[in-house]
Amino acid sequence: MSRLEQTQSQYRSLRLSATAGHLGELLAQAEANELSYLELARQIAEHELAERTRRRIDRHLKQAQLPAHKPLEAFDYRHQTTITKRQVSALLDFGFIDERQNLVFIGPPGVGKTHLAIGIALKAIEAGYKVLFRTALALVEDLELAEMKGELKKRLRQLGKYDVLVIDELGYLPMTRQARYNLFQLINSLYEYRSIILTTNKDFSNWGAFFHDDAVAVPIIDRVIHHSHIFMLGGESYRLKQKTTS
Ligand code: ADP
Ligand code: MG
Repeated sequence: MSRLEQTQSQYRSLRLSATAGHLGELLAQAEANELSYLELARQIAEHELAERTRRRIDRHLKQAQLPAHKPLEAFDYRHQTTITKRQVSALLDFGFIDERQNLVFIGPPGVGKTHLAIGIALKAIEAGYKVLFRTALALVEDLELAEMKGELKKRLRQLGKYDVLVIDELGYLPMTRQARYNLFQLINSLYEYRSIILTTNKDFSNWGAFFHDDAVAVPIIDRVIHHSHIFMLGGESYRLKQKTTS
């Protein structure tokens, strides 16, 4: 084993694997550029830190289970005029996450609610936050299963590990009484503790009817809209527009 290889394996046993892999390159560059020892030491530390950050973001991206790659850069504000780029950009300092506030996108199908939720989620992940994306239906099934196994509390705790929970498409499908109750438990456990990004086709005035039973609807609405940024989106369905113009 060469001296370099020995050193690399020492770096590996110190769990500095990014540095280990690039040590030869880092040294060669340092020599070519006649770097000072301090500068080389700094570059090694920076390389390892940058690589770790990249890996963490990759891991968070996988964990988020976003259903599609919909970056904000692909969002067309000329089509969707009921929200401005300025409004969306203002969210990207992530004060809303730090302050445990929610985002609510309300509007008919096809107007870009899910796209915005995913786009903001992507930026949050890049900024180092942990996100989980779930449709309301999948979430309710998830909670139902946990409840049947007597593990609802445990599951709620797990869902509380993410900085942001995206709940997509609330209101599209009817829910059983138990499902509504479980959802209430979830929202209650996240209230003022984590952020929710919610998309829904139902205006709050229709939530009572959707949840059948106001005893659950009112406290859910109350907790979601308290400390939240609400965006009412309108206009034509983007899907429909694409069909008619192509
Ligand atoms: P919603 O969740 O409101 O039903 P989506 O966000 O799923 O709508 O949008 C439907 C499709 O149209 C997606 O493929 C989305 O990327 C696209 N889309 C919607 N609005 C816009 C927009 N303003 N700019 C670019 N693409 C858009
Ligand atoms: Mg949607």
